[in-house]
Amino acid sequence: MRKLGKTVVLTLTLGLCAATALDARDYDAPHRVRLSFDRYYNYPELVAAFRTLEKAYPKFLRVETIGKSVQGRDLIVAVINNPATGSELGKAAMYIDGNIHGNEVQGGEVCLYTAWYLLENYGKINKVTELVDDRVFYIVPVVNPDGRAWWFDEPNTPHSSRSGLKPTDNDNDGLYDEDGFDDLDGDGSICQMRKKVPFGNWRVSSEDPRLMERVAFGEVGDYIMLGYEGIDNDGDGMINEDGPGGYDPNRNWPSDWQPNYVQYGAGDYPLSLPESRAVAEFIMSHPNIAGVQSYHNSGGMILRGPGAESVGEYPHRDVRVYDRIGEIGEQILPFYRYMVIYKDLYPVHGGFITWTYEGLGIFSFTNELWSSYEYFKKKPAESNKQDWRASFLSRQKERMKFNDLVEMGDMFVDWHPYKHPTYGDIEIGGWKKWSARVAPVFALEELCHRNCAFTLYHADQMPKPAIHEVSVHPLGNRVYQVRVVFANERIIPTISEQAQRYKLQRPDWALISGEKVKVLAGGPVDDRWLGKMKPVKHHPEKVRLLDGIQGMSERLVEWIVQGHGDVTVALDCVKGGRVEKRVALR
Ligand SMILES: [Zn+2]
Repeated sequence: MRKLGKTVVLTLTLGLCAATALDARDYDAPHRVRLSFDRYYNYPELVAAFRTLEKAYPKFLRVETIGKSVQGRDLIVAVINNPATGSELGKAAMYIDGNIHGNEVQGGEVCLYTAWYLLENYGKINKVTELVDDRVFYIVPVVNPDGRAWWFDEPNTPHSSRSGLKPTDNDNDGLYDEDGFDDLDGDGSICQMRKKVPFGNWRVSSEDPRLMERVAFGEVGDYIMLGYEGIDNDGDGMINEDGPGGYDPNRNWPSDWQPNYVQYGAGDYPLSLPESRAVAEFIMSHPNIAGVQSYHNSGGMILRGPGAESVGEYPHRDVRVYDRIGEIGEQILPFYRYMVIYKDLYPVHGGFITWTYEGLGIFSFTNELWSSYEYFKKKPAESNKQDWRASFLSRQKERMKFNDLVEMGDMFVDWHPYKHPTYGDIEIGGWKKWSARVAPVFALEELCHRNCAFTLYHADQMPKPAIHEVSVHPLGNRVYQVRVVFANERIIPTISEQAQRYKLQRPDWALISGEKVKVLAGGPVDDRWLGKMKPVKHHPEKVRLLDGIQGMSERLVEWIVQGHGDVTVALDCVKGGRVEKRVALR
């Protein structure tokens, strides 16, 4: 008995030690708002979740409507700011959005997770507290709510549709949206149609009877592929040629916008869509936005512009910043690659993040969420890229293995017979809507957190102005030399080279003022040891720093003033806000 008692005491002591070591992060962290990230939210549920967060954290979070979609849904932005540490426009802001493409839904969940994570961990994790205190977050979880609703509520392929729901006459017959997909077998997914024929160009794969492979040139197969499920709804001899909407909301932005005959889906003119116009007006009325992140799917990419070769590579100093953030991103996001849109993906004219950088000078990324490399957490053996048929089949096989072994077969509809009004006896089967581009729910939370972490890293690297040193030297006759070392303590410059080159934002201001003080001269000092000041001609109390302050750099400004009492020196940046210090002249 005695012995047993001793053991119990020892166990209890060990238990206590472990509990103390855990500090604030409990096993069962007491979240104020419990949200699940092992599920997807349709648009009303997503908006309701943001409203719940707003109710629980009214001091930090405000949900606003910035406009209406084509079908009249509210476009919401969640604004996260701590008013106790300063006004919104006086802080660098991170703009985050998702789901501009209707079917690319998980960006909405990443946005919700980001808001939830910031609010729930404020006061618990120092870095989060610092970000919420110093930065502002503008989060538009769904740029295309009509597209999201259409994807959730209607039968679709994994790839349909990118569009919003502005009625569009895709086949120029004067009718709008009259011939889209039809869920012929009524299972909620738009799958493929195939037909057995004596002289076809496809055959059933010898390795897996569910997969189809194209026959090589000169060979004969026994199947033809007839595209996605559908019939000729309008009797014009074409199938699925004019579905709902039918444009690309991410080709409607002002930089390098090209008409439809150059860039498919561009819309009638830049910002012709109410959704893109609302977002553009919001961004342009918040010049404090210093970072942009847009979430798409899929492929595991961290993309930057340019979108087209003709735009030309971005200025060298900015590319250095992009490279640094992108390379850190590759570490935060295993299996994601940092890429340039036009040369590593495909040309995009009039894209959103190319506009926010090229047109507004803001460092901007698009993440393509979820990669097939994540199926088995490894890069599959390099397939021969020259052989299109072989690499197509090997990717299909990899997905099928994941379907069978990890998803218990839930991603694929087995081929089954169907009597088609035009094609006669066919078979329907293939990948379900929820396969391929959208992460399975068990992997969603990790996807949300890692992408959130990447975006918070970007947000943390937005300009952070500071005053490192102020010195006052009397020169006699109540004249003083005031020298101030201003700094930017993060890697993103206060003014990007793009913004400087095209005058996309006002310069930073180095300011000095004092009630009983006359400012005689002032200007930047390029070499603090040689000490030569370059006096500005007009208004020396407001020295304009045209190229701002580079990342992780200091900048010395000197003033000659006459008078007595205190002076206030300040640095006022559009992106990063204002810092100031008061010193006595003596
Ligand atoms: Zn997309």
